[in-house]
This record gives sequence, structure tokens and C-alpha cells, in this order.
Amino acid sequence: MSAPEIFSLAAERVQQAQDFPILQQSVRGKRLVYLDNGATTQKPSVVIETERNFYLNDNANIHRGVHWLSQRATDIYEAGREQIRGFLNAARSEEIVFTRGTTEAINLVAYSWGRANLASGDEIILSGMEHHSNIVPWQLMAEQTGAVLKVVPINDRGELDMDAYRSLLGSKTRLVAIAHVSNALGTVNPVADIVAQAHAVGAKVLVDGAQAVAHQAVDVQALDCDFYVFSGHKLYGPTGTGALYARYELLRAMPPWQGGGDMIRTVSFERSTYADVPQRFEAGTPNIAGVAGLASAIAYVQALGMGRIAAHEQAVLAYGTQALLRVPGLRLIGTAAHKAAILSFVLDGIHPHDLGTILDTEGIAIRAGHHCAMPVMTRFGIPGTARASLALYNTESDIDALVAGIHKAQDMFGGKKRS
Ligand SMILES: *Cc1c(COP(=O)(O)O)cnc(C)c1O
Repeated sequence: MSAPEIFSLAAERVQQAQDFPILQQSVRGKRLVYLDNGATTQKPSVVIETERNFYLNDNANIHRGVHWLSQRATDIYEAGREQIRGFLNAARSEEIVFTRGTTEAINLVAYSWGRANLASGDEIILSGMEHHSNIVPWQLMAEQTGAVLKVVPINDRGELDMDAYRSLLGSKTRLVAIAHVSNALGTVNPVADIVAQAHAVGAKVLVDGAQAVAHQAVDVQALDCDFYVFSGHKLYGPTGTGALYARYELLRAMPPWQGGGDMIRTVSFERSTYADVPQRFEAGTPNIAGVAGLASAIAYVQALGMGRIAAHEQAVLAYGTQALLRVPGLRLIGTAAHKAAILSFVLDGIHPHDLGTILDTEGIAIRAGHHCAMPVMTRFGIPGTARASLALYNTESDIDALVAGIHKAQDMFGGKKRS
């Protein structure tokens, strides 16, 4: 199957829940209610079929082969790049680098751009709601370069303190690295505003889009960010896929990060020269089948329409918020005015892990813990939360099941106490 055929196949498969075979099974005799989409989303049949078709018909290594299959595999891989370019509305496909996911993309920027551009005393601004993936690489880079981390605090609703952000910005600021949507709180950050203010002091901005791309349309040119990163597996695509968007001139000036095949122009023992972007940052054989799957996942959500997905999820989120607020002894963590897809909460007298275990016996999958955002838990003075996170296939009935499960847990714990 050619790359365009793969994508048109995706466009025909727009039937939401029926499209996700894994959701058709029952768990412990109950209907599976999957509310752990912030950790990873399920895959529609078209994505599974696309990967299978790749291995059945198209598998070969890319960019190196003179033969027919290699050309086919290369076309599919590069069509995937173009698919992502369109999805993010990047100006050119050379601005898209394939990675294993968000974590690898942030590390790429830290080790390549960071090592070349950060010096002692330079400042990197993060926020108090970052995922560990958008904290630790910058800590490592700060240790190596002498750069300093500054943190934008968050208020009781889980929103960024924009006044504090303004006061942290200055002539020493080199980079602002910020989540588009918080995985622990659901807060949607005012990224365009953050970018404009950072650019006014000459700083670059990296946006962690891991929790954003599946829930709203993203336009990197409208945001005007310098780097944007996401993972395929939270966007209905395969694990081990993802991408970095980087502004062309920035990317072209960045030194290689990992060395190996596919990223070079010439190699001798004295000296190697490097390929143009984006190949310079794609050392070694990539996840070619995964890229085909990711491209079909993107075609799938595009066929549904990001606006329709966002509207549906916002309706379920509003329904879920109201339903949870009626549960005695429940406190929502993250009540920002702008939220997406995440319901994080704590219950009086029931540890999040215990709640998760009881919900599991009802076939309901949620996450319990710190959600790789320990500073958020510290900020709210809690060890962790229970988190229900939504995707396009979730409905009000999933929320009803969640609330019934919470009541059952409260009965078991003799709860329903008010704090
Ligand atoms: C999941 C997540 C990451 C890390 O993504 P990986 O796919 O594990 O690399 C980073 N940031 C946020 C906000 C996330 O939700």
C-alpha cells in the first residue's frame, strides 16, 4: 500500500469507540472503562493495520537502499514527516525530527541546543507544573553548563502565576520550557502569551505538547514557539514514536546529538561531516513502522476533526467535573479556568492507590500517584492524586461508572465523611 493509500484508509475509519478493538473487551466481568489516557491512549484499528501492512508489504530500511522496497519504505517514512508538518502547521517538513517521544525530544534539545547555547549564569525558566521529562534534562544541562533554573509558581487553581513569570524574565533568560497542558492538573497554559514575552527578552521557548496534541488543534506558527515536542502514543499512535518541531534556522545551527548512520555526509577517522536537518538528528535506523502508524493516527484524528474532538472532550470534562464535585469528601486538584481532559482529585480517608485498586475491580482504569510531576504534589501538600484522563472515545457513561466506583470505595472505607 502506498503512503497516500494508508492515509485515505485512515480517513474512512471514523467510528470512534468501535474503532478501538481493545475497548470491546470486558475486564473482571465488567465493561472496560479506560480513563488512563494521560498515560497512554488506545489505538484504533487503522493504526494497528497500518503497522501490520508495513511489515507485510513495505518493510525495508530507509534512505540507503537503491531497491524498490527501500524506496517505498522511505516514501512512507517521509510522508509521515509531511503528515506531522501539516498537523502542527509547521512551515516546512525539515523542521520535523522523529524521536522516540516527548522525553527523547526534550533531551535532544537540551543536549544539542542547550550545550551549544547555555553558559554559566544563564537562566532557564520552567514552571511548577512540569512533567519530570521537562525538568530533569534541564537540571542535567544546568549541572554541565552552570546555567540556573527558575520556576514559575502556580496558584491554588493550578494556573501559572503570570506576574511571577514576567518578573523572572530578564536579559539572562535563554530558554523557557513549559507544558502546553499539565498532565497532573489539566491546566491549559497561555502559550502564545508566554512565547511573546520570552521573545521580547530574546529567550527561546520549548513547549511540551505531550498532553495537548490529542485534545486540541496545535499551530506552531500561531504559537510562534521555537520548539514543540510530543509523543505518538498519547495521540492514538504507537509507543516509541514522537517528534520534535524546531524552527528551521535554529535546527540548522544545532550540532549533532547522537552519532551514527543516517546522520552523516562523510566519515573518515580524521573527521566526519554531518547531514542536513532533519537527518542530522536521526542517527541509526528509526521506528519506520511506528512512523507509518503515527501518520495514520494523525490522519485518523484529522478526519474526525480536532475541533470536534475538543468539543466532545470538553463536554465530558464539564460533566465529569460537576459529577465529582457532588461527591462528598472529594477535592479536585486543578481547577483552572482553561482545562483539558484531566480530572485529578483526592478523597478524604482513601489513599489514591486504594481507590485505584477498588476501581480496578470494577473494570475502571485510572492512575494514582504523582503522575511524574512530584513538584505539583508538593505544591498542593499531597502525596498524589487519583487521575481520570479522557480521550475521544470516553463518554458520560464512563464518568457515571467512575462516580459509582468512588461511592463503592467510600462505602468500603466507611467514608463519605466531609473534611
Ligand atoms: C507523558 C508526558 C511526557 C513524557 O512523555 P513520554 O512519552 O514518556 O516520553 C512529558 N510531558 C508530559 C506533559 C507528559 O504528559
